[in-house]
Amino acid sequence: MRLDYLTIFPDFFAPLELSLPGKAAASGLLDLGVHDLRQWAHDRHRTVDDTPYGGGAGMVMKPEPWGEALAEVVRPGSTVVFTTPSGERFDQRLAEELSTREHLVFACGRYEGIDQRVIDHAREIAEVREISLGDYVLNGGEVAALAVTEAVVRLLPGFMGNAASLVEESHAAESGGLLEYPVYTKPRSWEGRDVPDVLLSGDHGAIARWRRAEAVRRTAQRRPDLLSPSVLDDGTPIVRAVPGDAGELLTLQRACWVQEAVANDMLAIPALHESLDDVRAWLGEWDTYVVRRAGRLVAAVRGRLEGEAGDTWDIGRIMVAPDLQGSGLGRVLLDHIQAVAPPAATSYVLFTGAASARNQRMYKKAGFRLRPDLPAPPGAVVLTKRRGR
Ligand code: SAM
Repeated sequence: MRLDYLTIFPDFFAPLELSLPGKAAASGLLDLGVHDLRQWAHDRHRTVDDTPYGGGAGMVMKPEPWGEALAEVVRPGSTVVFTTPSGERFDQRLAEELSTREHLVFACGRYEGIDQRVIDHAREIAEVREISLGDYVLNGGEVAALAVTEAVVRLLPGFMGNAASLVEESHAAESGGLLEYPVYTKPRSWEGRDVPDVLLSGDHGAIARWRRAEAVRRTAQRRPDLLSPSVLDDGTPIVRAVPGDAGELLTLQRACWVQEAVANDMLAIPALHESLDDVRAWLGEWDTYVVRRAGRLVAAVRGRLEGEAGDTWDIGRIMVAPDLQGSGLGRVLLDHIQAVAPPAATSYVLFTGAASARNQRMYKKAGFRLRPDLPAPPGAVVLTKRRGR
């Protein structure tokens, strides 16, 4: 694989000489080229930036040096990677995809970024990927280019001494995209902490089962978003809500709770009175899932751990757009939110209107029981269910 880096800070790439990438370059598996963008700037000061059209803070990288650099470095079959916080988020799938390319050219931005015409032009001469390392802003693209490089080159056949170690890692497609289980080495006992017995048992089946269970438990606890999303019968996924869903959630919530207000002959229902800011706030506090059909947000549900021991999964805001009610969507969401409850949850609790007969029927069918012995908000009833293991 050939890797080229276009940057105004070539020294940033010294680490490429270290460790495995260095060895891979020495053995001919990798062919590396680091280029100072300023060699394509021709004025006395080798200027690569200028003020932004339209005004605003900071400087923008000029197109001319980039145009010349790309003309020299790009060749048929190249993929140009622009590192940018507004790109697609880098992950293991993308690393796997890039590891199949023959030639990657990393274009490292600085200042407020690169003139948009450079990216548009690059698309005409090569495959272009705009890649973000994550939802934060770095000073320049060099660190991102190094991170992408390291994740990609270790996937090249022959790069790792032991290829099996790639298969079991966190995020590997082969391990179902789960986080890795905890790992231990000698000594068997350290500072009063022992290695789990099962790992010393020699029973490979038991070890594999334990590792799988630990990987699932860790993923559910730390990154529930990585667990495969549930899908509706027609293949539509139930996905985690994002902050940008707040406006549509507010609209859906109003539509659904007007019905509740009519059924229960009362207006004092919190969901009916929340503002956009309220919805934004609870989105940050609850695990919320949504369903979109043809781009439209049509259903949602939320859950979070409550109770003194933090072992009760509080389920709420099950909402289905009025035109889709009765289609079974509410029940699917109810099943989904129970399935994604963290391992700590030993029971489920939910509230509904005392006169919301249809909701109560659905909850009872799903195994929930009315709990008149538990406190409920005015006009509402509480239902609970023990979690089956
Ligand atoms: N004004 C830009 C914006 O708001 O999107 C940020 C520019 S940033 C200060 C300068 C350069 O750092 C970017 O052009 C990009 O190459 C790089 N960079 C910053 N954050 C990044 C991230 N999360 N992922 C990849 N590259 C990043």
